[in-house]
Amino acid sequence: MSNGNTYKGSCFCGTVQFTVTGEPAGMGYCHCSDCRLWSAGPVNAFTLWPPEAVKVTQGADKIRTYNKSPRSYRKWCATCGGHLFTDHPEWKLIDVYAATIPSLPFRPGVHVNYQETVLPIKDGLPKLKDFPKELGGTGEAMAE
Ligand SMILES: [Zn+2]
Ligand SMILES: [Zn+2]
Repeated sequence: MSNGNTYKGSCFCGTVQFTVTGEPAGMGYCHCSDCRLWSAGPVNAFTLWPPEAVKVTQGADKIRTYNKSPRSYRKWCATCGGHLFTDHPEWKLIDVYAATIPSLPFRPGVHVNYQETVLPIKDGLPKLKDFPKELGGTGEAMAE
């Protein structure tokens, strides 16, 4: 069940504008090396949404995509290079980077791919070695 909350997001320069509606299916932090190399940041704060919850309202023609694997299609703005989202077609979810939707209350619930971390975060949240079982991982937890 989705409530009517809509949050506005954009890229760094504002050319690409979008909205997300409802509540995310999950929020947390990814510590994998793919996210790290692509984002040039140590950790990726993610929010996962069903595709129908994400609507590009401006600048759709400026969105570029790169996929190193069939699991993740990473998208950014061609004008500023700012990152937007990653489409996970196998999971039927879109990861909208938490940083691009500042009005969404970010309530992380889990750390994933923690076995690859370069920035351990001792916040008491569950630390999964890779992914949850329902997303094809082992679901195994690790110590902080
Ligand atoms: Zn931009
Ligand atoms: Zn990742």
